[in-house]
Amino acid sequence: MFRILLAVFTLALAGCATTPQTAKPAAARPPVILISIDGFRPDYLDRGLTPVLGGLAAGGVRGAMRPSFPSKTFPNHYTLVTGLRPDRHGIVENNIEDPAIPGVTFKMADRQAVRDRRWWDQGEPIWVTAERAGVAAAPMFWPGAEAEVRGVRPAHWLTYDEAMPMEERVDWLLARLDGGERRPGFLTLYFHHIDTAGHDFGPDSPEVDAMLPRVDSAIGRLVAGLGARGLDANILIVADHGMAPLSDARRIFLDDLLPAGAYRYLGAGAILTLYPTPGREGEVAAALLRPHPHMQCWRKADIPARFHYGRNPRVAPFFCLPKTGWVVTTRGYKPRKPERGAHGYDPASPEMAAVFIASGPAFRKGAVLPAFDNVSVYPLLARLLGVKPAANDGRSADTEAALAR
Ligand code: AMP
Ligand code: ZN
Ligand code: ZN
Repeated sequence: MFRILLAVFTLALAGCATTPQTAKPAAARPPVILISIDGFRPDYLDRGLTPVLGGLAAGGVRGAMRPSFPSKTFPNHYTLVTGLRPDRHGIVENNIEDPAIPGVTFKMADRQAVRDRRWWDQGEPIWVTAERAGVAAAPMFWPGAEAEVRGVRPAHWLTYDEAMPMEERVDWLLARLDGGERRPGFLTLYFHHIDTAGHDFGPDSPEVDAMLPRVDSAIGRLVAGLGARGLDANILIVADHGMAPLSDARRIFLDDLLPAGAYRYLGAGAILTLYPTPGREGEVAAALLRPHPHMQCWRKADIPARFHYGRNPRVAPFFCLPKTGWVVTTRGYKPRKPERGAHGYDPASPEMAAVFIASGPAFRKGAVLPAFDNVSVYPLLARLLGVKPAANDGRSADTEAALAR
């Protein structure tokens, strides 16, 4: 009897040793938790202010991601969960117009627009892939989570509420794991706080440094809550982009380049999305396309290939990219509060790099990944969840070295 038991035990152990976490059927897997810390640069981890994140990185995998272009919040959050470049998933900017959706401007704060699936339907977010495969999802606060994308609603979601305290966000996630109806296998968390401090005070400010331990301890609360429940989850901690410091000395004034009636713009600052007034395209082209010392503009068809941007009908006819740390604005523009940091710039700028940490049973311990494009997060999520990924721009090879064997 003892010998049989021993044999069964040995077999079970061998099974554990040789079956990678990513080869188990979807239902038997540990939960996958994707956490976005908006605007968190990889180098913030080296400030000695984030012991929980540091511990997760040391006991797991650490890396840096290049955001997709433009390095803005909504485009990159949707890229992280679809594996598609913004030009392909359709959330090409934080503010968007679409000739096929006339009379509406998509804006992050417009709940009606944010809930309209037409804006999101060009991509398939991982929670749709998961739900279709029978894995319940709880993409709390993730851009797109409020819409019925491609006709699928996640089991659990919440209306975006910036005022919800960090601890409550964590507790909401933990409560979903406590069971009840449709216990999720995929969950997300979102923290805007580091991005806000970075915009208001700059990436190197004491205010960012003061916020780092607060977000860190919220993640500590999650880790402790998972531990108390005996849950060994696979956790990915990502950011959508980094943050570059600004200066009043680095401003480009559109009024100096173009007469007021010749154009309108949807977004300005670290990038400019510009629509010429009908009949004045030639004038706009002549003014914008000539060399400028601190900014480069293109017609959408001529945006360099490395940005993978410009084919979507939602991309504005003219696109300008200031040098990292410069902003394009108008002389009349008075911001409600001064801007000391910005993003949206060239994804190759070191300031735009986004943090990547992976921790849990699926991951190696102490591994460091070479920098990779953030389109590769979606195929990794699909692999962790055991679901078939939709067509995407990512590469599994980018994160292969992160996985335990
Ligand atoms: P950005 O303007 O690109 O820096 O975007 C960051 C802002 O996006 C933060 O201040 C967040 O409050 C906001 N945000 C993030 N997620 C959402 C969401 N799901 N719905 C509305 N606003 C959001
Ligand atoms: Zn952001
Ligand atoms: Zn931001």
